[in-house]
Amino acid sequence: MLDVLVAGGGPAGWAVAAACARRGLDTALVDPAPDRPWRATYGAWRGELPAAAEAVMAARGRGEAIGTIAHQLGWEYVVLDNAALRDALAAAPVTVLKGRVRDAHPDPEGVTVDLGGGGRRAAVLFDATGAVRSVLGAAPRRNAPVRTDAVQTAVGVVVAADAARELVTPGAALFMDWRPHHGETGWPTFLYAVPVTSDRILLEETSLARRPGLELSVLRRRLHARLAYHRIAVPPGGEERVRFPVDRPLPAPGSWRGPVVPFGAASPLVHPATGYSVATALGLAPRVATAVHDALQCGGARAAATAGWQTVWSPAALAVHTLRRRSLESLLRLPPDRVPNFFDVFFALPPRHRWAYLTGREDVQGSAAAMGALFTAAPWWLRRRLVLGALDPRGLPQNDYN
Ligand SMILES: Cc1cc2nc3c(=O)[nH]c(=O)nc-3n(C[C@H](O)[C@H](O)[C@H](O)COP(=O)(O)OP(=O)(O)OC[C@H]3O[C@@H](n4cnc5c(N)ncnc54)[C@H](O)[C@@H]3O)c2cc1C
Repeated sequence: MLDVLVAGGGPAGWAVAAACARRGLDTALVDPAPDRPWRATYGAWRGELPAAAEAVMAARGRGEAIGTIAHQLGWEYVVLDNAALRDALAAAPVTVLKGRVRDAHPDPEGVTVDLGGGGRRAAVLFDATGAVRSVLGAAPRRNAPVRTDAVQTAVGVVVAADAARELVTPGAALFMDWRPHHGETGWPTFLYAVPVTSDRILLEETSLARRPGLELSVLRRRLHARLAYHRIAVPPGGEERVRFPVDRPLPAPGSWRGPVVPFGAASPLVHPATGYSVATALGLAPRVATAVHDALQCGGARAAATAGWQTVWSPAALAVHTLRRRSLESLLRLPPDRVPNFFDVFFALPPRHRWAYLTGREDVQGSAAAMGALFTAAPWWLRRRLVLGALDPRGLPQNDYN
């Protein structure tokens, strides 16, 4: 009987598995392709990453953003070295299993997991299977209203840093560039332009969120037009394709009978208005592991799962998530041509407000103050939009069971 079994070998699954193993828990991780490299380019603000991440940074740059004008953000942006991050996490004593969790059966002492070719028992199971949340399930209750996810989509290519100098000056990371250099009207998209090595830059045309997600073909067309505008040749070879939901509902606590804790995009730890989750998972994993470890010693499997769940979704985290969901709805309702103006207002806020809004997952006061400051700094047309969007019922907390 394992203490902990983690379903899913993405960054979140590995982060929580490594943290549990380092806390002394007998831990295994199961994934259908446990050795498959992580292909996505993972970025985060340096200040939100745990100290250990300093050793696994592929590239970094001064954070800059452009709405209609340029803003220096005052923080460093980091792109992670996926292989180094994975190696660092896999150095923990985690047993790796190849397989897919097909079913899970709770019992009084834990949970038995069906892996197709056999079963494993564990006191606590983490569902870190990404947005599909294949253990806890993502399917809505029968008769629940049909909902369409808000989805972030993007298409990117990597070019030589010299070729992209006009867009990204040496030492910089362009978090967002909302100038419509792709030449199209319609749904607003921005360029994300960040160093991925010392001499290569990822240029990614991005739709922050749309319900349903903006088609990749539109993003590709705009990216190529934007590159042509800046006289950058489209490089041969592959492209990065991004598509993931940003507002998956929370699983209801107690909705599954056994000791299962959702983690990572499955949780969902995804910031609904930015799409970021990797830094949160890396930072939160040790706290969750400690909570599970301590509760397992004195209270057993159910107590451990409850402690894990409550660490991931503390009352403060739930409150901030609700605020963020509301701000997502406001964003989705802005007139497309005014979105760059909105970001000019946001990026001109004092750094403490921007930081709280972007990274303060449990900072209720800071997040509310940031939204208040944005409202105060906004022109009237924007204030009206922000209020109408925030009142939309889709910004209210949801779980699979309402
Ligand atoms: C191209 C791209 C770029 C992104 N860039 C960023 C970024 O810069 N910063 C950021 O914070 N976020 C980014 N995201 C969003 C998000 O953070 C990522 O989706 C991230 O991979 C989520 O990590 P995760 O470990 O929760 O889930 P995943 O990475 O999706 O991992 C889930 C794992 O679970 C496995 N699995 C699924 N079902 C089962 C099962 N039944 N049994 C066992 N295993 C199973 C899957 O095979 C997979 O390995 C990006 C997303 C994409 C697609």
